[in-house]
Amino acid sequence: MKRLSRTVDSPGDLGTEVIAVPDDASIEIELRLESVMEGVLVTGTAHAPLKGECVRCLEPLSQECEVEFQEMFSYPDADDRSHENVDTGDDAEEEGPLYLEDDLFDLEPVLRDAVVLSLPLQPVCREDCPGLCPDCGARLADDPDHHHEEAVDIRWAALQELASSMKDDEKDVPRDGGDDSQEK
Ligand SMILES: [Zn+2]
Ligand SMILES: [Zn+2]
Repeated sequence: MKRLSRTVDSPGDLGTEVIAVPDDASIEIELRLESVMEGVLVTGTAHAPLKGECVRCLEPLSQECEVEFQEMFSYPDADDRSHENVDTGDDAEEEGPLYLEDDLFDLEPVLRDAVVLSLPLQPVCREDCPGLCPDCGARLADDPDHHHEEAVDIRWAALQELASSMKDDEKDVPRDGGDDSQEK
C-alpha cells in the first residue's frame, strides 16, 4: 500500500456550462494505491476550485469541490476474459475495465467523472438568492425593496392605449405618442 499526494494542473474543460474548474487551476489529489491480485486499487480525494455563475442572478461565484473516487486498474494480461469476451453491446457506453499501462495509470477520466458528477446543476450565489427583477433585470439581492410603480404588462398596454384613445376621440384631444407624423 502506498500513499501519494500530488498537485496537478487542471486537464481543462472540466465542468459544465454553469460551473467548472478553471483551466489554469491546480487540483490537489491524495491517493491511496493498494496492490491487489489483479492490479492496483486506487482510492483518492481531489480538491479543486470552481468558478461559475449563479443561475438566478448571473453573479460570478467561486466555490470549491472535494470529491472522492475509487477505481481498479488491472494488469493488462490479468483478466483476458473480461478484456476480450465481454460483449458490451451498444448500450454499454460506460468505460470497461481500466488497465495499467507500463506500470502507469491514467487518472484523468476517473477524476473527470468524479468532479463533473459532484458539480451542482443549478449553482446559486446563496441559497436564498432572489434572482433578477422580471421587469427590469436588476439584481434583487442588491435592492431588496425594489419594485415598480404601476407596472403595466405590455400585453395590456395596447388595450389601455385603445381605451384612452376612445375617450380622447370624444373630446377630440390628440393622444400622446401614437402618431409619428406629427413629430418633427
Ligand atoms: Zn444569485
Ligand atoms: Zn425592476
